Amino acid sequence: MAEMNWAGNYEYRAGRIARPETVEELRELVVGAPAVRALGSRHSFNDLADTPGLLVSTAGLPGTVRIDEASRTVTVGGGVRYGDLARELQEAGWALHNLASLPHISVAGAIATATHGSGDRNGNLATAVAGLRILNGSGELVDLRRGDEGFDGAVVGLGALGVVTEVTLEIRPTFDARQRLFGGVPWDAVLGRLDELTSAAYSVSLFTTWDEPSVSLAWLKELDGAESAIEDDFFGAPALTEARHMIPTMDVRNTTEQLGVAGPWSERLAHFRFEFTPSNGEEIQSEYLVPRSRAVEAIEAVRALAPLVAPLLQITEIRTVAADDLWLSSSYGTDVVGLHFTWVRDQAGVEAVLPQVEAALLPLGARPHWGKLYLDREGVVPSLYPRLADFAALAARFDPDGRFRNPFLARLLP
Ligand SMILES: Cc1cc2nc3c(=O)[nH]c(=O)nc-3n(C[C@H](O)[C@H](O)[C@H](O)COP(=O)(O)OP(=O)(O)OC[C@H]3O[C@@H](n4cnc5c(N)ncnc54)[C@H](O)[C@@H]3O)c2cc1C
Repeated sequence: MAEMNWAGNYEYRAGRIARPETVEELRELVVGAPAVRALGSRHSFNDLADTPGLLVSTAGLPGTVRIDEASRTVTVGGGVRYGDLARELQEAGWALHNLASLPHISVAGAIATATHGSGDRNGNLATAVAGLRILNGSGELVDLRRGDEGFDGAVVGLGALGVVTEVTLEIRPTFDARQRLFGGVPWDAVLGRLDELTSAAYSVSLFTTWDEPSVSLAWLKELDGAESAIEDDFFGAPALTEARHMIPTMDVRNTTEQLGVAGPWSERLAHFRFEFTPSNGEEIQSEYLVPRSRAVEAIEAVRALAPLVAPLLQITEIRTVAADDLWLSSSYGTDVVGLHFTWVRDQAGVEAVLPQVEAALLPLGARPHWGKLYLDREGVVPSLYPRLADFAALAARFDPDGRFRNPFLARLLP
């Protein structure tokens, strides 16, 4: 039977998917395969995870969760899903700094692609990594800690260095948060006061279909107890009094609790609830992370493409991510604004529109999300990463025989 990614828009070409249950089994599989890749929870939308050889699923590997209160870290198996980790941390009184919209994704798969949530002062999920244990291409387990040579290159690793068997993440004492939604933010406010708008809460997301008279939804996540200047009006948009899904036709029960009700971070920072399947998978996603200084230009450029984009779009989310030092992070060296597109699942249609979206955004320095669909027909993306050659050298050191190379990496790396 054909093995597909979560969205069903990509069929893996790997000859086989193995499901090791121990690190020793994993090691035997890796050293026995000339071409191999780790497969997490299958939530990416392109051929990044694929290989012509063997895929090793991390889902059955040990799902350890070890909290070290003294160092304020947690060490988890790479295949553990954020939703499971968040529950364990919350029960023990601890928290992560942020979550992506979906808690069902694996920790190692998320950090490998610089997966992020939102918030001007929140780095992506990979910035919480304090240590990694990697089974490299020679079958050795290598430990890297923050500060070690190569660490900043290894974290957002695209699966190129080996299989991450354990990740150590920074944690903080648990906190409560609440979510409020506001309907209809005027475009003038978005374009003229973007910095004020995105800094108004711990995390701010804007949702639009680009062709509407105002941005249909602002979704705020606020720390409970934090002072807020926002009452019932968000830059001209009134507070909603009924809960909503960001896609109006979808079931609101899939979303985490809204209407300002405070609750643990583990049940507020993701948009979607862990106990529900968030949507039916009938979607394709793309996202471009634009340097903050070019964000308004980027938003205007996509708005001008609304007649082209809107017919294929379910929703766009605009959100922010803080700068970091991780070589292949989409926010390497600059704060960014993410322009995310949840498309309908029409691969040919989306691929027909992306060249124009990319022609508008890539010249502004926008970096495509590694795990989402992008085309880069002109081969611009490598030039957006100043440490790419260093990354290629690091990957060659970890994987001298090129077992973890695949067509995606061949397109990217020198
Ligand atoms: C509904 C939905 C919502 C999403 N929301 C967000 C969001 O809010 N923010 C955001 O930034 N992204 C989001 N994404 C994208 C998603 O976070 C990324 O695609 C992420 O990589 C998925 O992790 P995964 O475990 O499913 O990875 P996979 O698709 O299984 O693999 C992705 C990459 O990670 C590598 N990898 C996986 N496990 C390991 C390991 N143990 N060791 C080494 N490499 C490994 C794979 O080799 C591959 O290169 C969303 C995706 C979906 C489907």
